[in-house]
Amino acid sequence: MLPEFKNEPLTDFSLPANRAAMEAALKQVHSQKGGHYPLLIGGELIDTKERIVSLNPSLCEEVIGTTAKADVVLADKAVQVAMQAFAAWRHISPEVRARYLFKAAALLRRRKFEFSAWLVAEAGKTWAEADADTAEAIDFMEYYGRQALKYALGMPVVAYPGEQNECFYIPLGVGVIISPWNFPLAILAGMTTAAIVAGNTVVVKPASNTPVIAAHFIRLLQEAGLPPGVVNYLPGSGTSIGDYLVAHPTVRFINFTGSKEVGLRINELAAKIAPGQKWLKRVIAEMGGKDAIIVDSEADLDQAAAGIVASAFGFQGQKCSACSRAIIVKDVYDVVLEKIIAKTQKLCLGPANDPTTDVGPVIDSSAYQKILGYIELGKQEGRLVVGGEKGDDAGYFIKPTVFAEVSPYARIAQEEIFGPVLAVIKAETFTEALAIANDTEYGLTGAVYSHNRAHLEQARRDFNVGNLYFNRKCTGALVGVHPFGGFNMSGTDSKAGGADYLLLFMQAKTVAEKL
Ligand code: GLU
Repeated sequence: MLPEFKNEPLTDFSLPANRAAMEAALKQVHSQKGGHYPLLIGGELIDTKERIVSLNPSLCEEVIGTTAKADVVLADKAVQVAMQAFAAWRHISPEVRARYLFKAAALLRRRKFEFSAWLVAEAGKTWAEADADTAEAIDFMEYYGRQALKYALGMPVVAYPGEQNECFYIPLGVGVIISPWNFPLAILAGMTTAAIVAGNTVVVKPASNTPVIAAHFIRLLQEAGLPPGVVNYLPGSGTSIGDYLVAHPTVRFINFTGSKEVGLRINELAAKIAPGQKWLKRVIAEMGGKDAIIVDSEADLDQAAAGIVASAFGFQGQKCSACSRAIIVKDVYDVVLEKIIAKTQKLCLGPANDPTTDVGPVIDSSAYQKILGYIELGKQEGRLVVGGEKGDDAGYFIKPTVFAEVSPYARIAQEEIFGPVLAVIKAETFTEALAIANDTEYGLTGAVYSHNRAHLEQARRDFNVGNLYFNRKCTGALVGVHPFGGFNMSGTDSKAGGADYLLLFMQAKTVAEKL
């Protein structure tokens, strides 16, 4: 019998053995930097003249690796090959498909430090953030493998005299996976393996900032014995092959995580019916957030400040779940603000490979410029209390930054910055705090720190977000424990890591036989 799903434990880096293992993995990865990774289409490695160059955000001169860069001809080939592979893969039983995921999870668990080291190097994740990303990738595969077994039982139907009836799930077809750079392993693994365990085949277009970690994950799936063509690796530019893949008539669904702008574009493109297209495309889109943590007048103020700082500055604020607004009821505003300032000042900004670093670099030069631009805007829109400038020029370092007395309608309180910038907002009452929290176009995560039962219940009902947390931080959803996805412009509320997620990649077929 398959053991019950359990979340992968996080690594305790205070233990010397774990530190040594991570140091060794970082060295090993360092020695492999600069490697080249071709496309993988149907088991065939294909190189191109054009290349994507992936850089280390902690040391922008350093090349992590290069990958081939697909054009539309190769994108079309990848879709055709995925379609051919679908013919056989769709008939492989869910039990067998799940076994590939369990095997890949086991391989990843064995090479956990190595994958985390790639995340440190290519995404600028701190050790702890990288480790959590790898653990989540393992979780997704273990969890979706088990969910596939559940769906193999079909949908229960009511008995009807004189007929034998059933309703079972079949896959959709060829999907396109467009994965983000901020969880370049976990979200890539989750989006890809959910789709294939349900019987689909996919073309994976990884984020252009993190194509190397994606290449390693694809290799891992190959090592797990996945048949050729089930997962095809196709790095390339969003505007050329991304659009082309989304618009392709053979593509049946698109699974996207990324910015609101790109998500909206995908949604629009996918809605157009191409000549020869026989279906409505499904779009699963997880987009941005402008997430708020509310602090009530009756609350544990130390815990509140700690939760705000962890949620605002973990992975440099580059999570769609990150807290970018702290909304504090006026009676405790000054005290909580002081605590936020003190805790933020203690954070250590530095290169991601240094184990003492709390806040690493942001992902690339365009994010760096954009965030610094918002910081300049924040100096007009609020009172700068911590940070407000760049760090060392070797990488894309930005000091964790806090603005106080920000208006709820300021641009820094409404627009997703996706960087280490927190806006602190004062509210007259708890009800007003809730109204402010809800007053953005997004609805992904939120948290409330309060001891007041009535207020918690009010938030449970009225705080309009997909993931709401009480008396804890608003990041770090765990697979199976906190199904993840948001409302409104945050996306389609797909609830990744939830028991219903696989349904997004299946269709149900009813068969009635008269006896
Ligand atoms: N699931 C992650 C969390 O709960 C965030 C995912 C994202 O940023 O895309 O923190």
